[in-house]
Amino acid sequence: MRKEECYAKLDLKLNAGPGDVRKAYRKLAMIHHPDKGGNESTFKQITEAYDRIQKNDFAHEQRPHNGYGPFDEMFSHNFTNQQTRVTRPAAKSTKNQTILKCFDLTLQEAYNGEDKKLSLQHIIPCTECSAPCDQCNACGFVTVEEHKSMGFASFVSTSTITCPKCKGNKRLYKPGQCAVCNNKKFVDVTKIQHIRLPPRVSQGKFKCIRNVIDGFDLEVHVSYNHSKDITISPMGDIIICKSIKFIESIFGYETVFTHPSGENIELNTRTLNTVLNDRKSITIEGKGFKLNRQLIFKFHIEQPKLKPMDEIDNNEIEECKRILKSLIPVSYTHLTLPTNREV
Ligand SMILES: [Zn+2]
Ligand SMILES: [Zn+2]
Repeated sequence: MRKEECYAKLDLKLNAGPGDVRKAYRKLAMIHHPDKGGNESTFKQITEAYDRIQKNDFAHEQRPHNGYGPFDEMFSHNFTNQQTRVTRPAAKSTKNQTILKCFDLTLQEAYNGEDKKLSLQHIIPCTECSAPCDQCNACGFVTVEEHKSMGFASFVSTSTITCPKCKGNKRLYKPGQCAVCNNKKFVDVTKIQHIRLPPRVSQGKFKCIRNVIDGFDLEVHVSYNHSKDITISPMGDIIICKSIKFIESIFGYETVFTHPSGENIELNTRTLNTVLNDRKSITIEGKGFKLNRQLIFKFHIEQPKLKPMDEIDNNEIEECKRILKSLIPVSYTHLTLPTNREV
């Protein structure tokens, strides 16, 4: 569909502005929409015409007359019809700044959830002596649309300029003395922002509150504050790495871990009948940080320095004998150990 056809489909002249185009499309769409009993093919055609006018999708078309390309047109002064239209941006397009807040929680706090309060101090324009600019929607600039046409040729160029009404100040100030802001044009305010951190909240970015105060987004992060021997895996397992003595790895090791829920979890490798090594871990199901995850104990065995033989006394030898006896598996206890056996 050529440009002229597109405008004709919408019953428009070639110099119609964006507002007229929208209005014409809406009117025709109401009549021809298939849901309203209209003809589907007609509806498709007017929709295509509208889309192409919206996107100004005619650049590839050959100009029907004397060699003016789109750029010739732009720099040519032979326009028969020029109109300038000032429109307000629909929304503020200036980017907000981000306030970062990180809550460093103990595992207990993170497990149970916490209610936090943040007090955000900032300044806002004094509403007593100023009002938002109605020309630029209080964003300080406006988009200027220049609609130009010459015979069949027509195009729209847009540019952004400082709002002429408020001169970019975003607000319009009333003349005279202001007792509220003392003519500073701004007042100090404090906003209390409540943040509910749910139970078993994950580490990292928790959420972003858009425009928490004018011009600022609030990004809330969570980190866990716990001892070095604890790791919380991304899946929510609690991994505890214990450094234990070599002798404990063989004869048993006991520890109590206070779970973030408050429950004391006892670990006794003697009752588990296990000898520990650096590769062995003990897993307790369902006691992780997240629901249905695991509590995992891992071990680092401190290797002993061997004592020179001449420094070992009789008591130590007797103790070693006792320990070795205790190590013999149950199924062999019917055997009689020779007495005074060398160790
Ligand atoms: Zn303005
Ligand atoms: Zn004021």
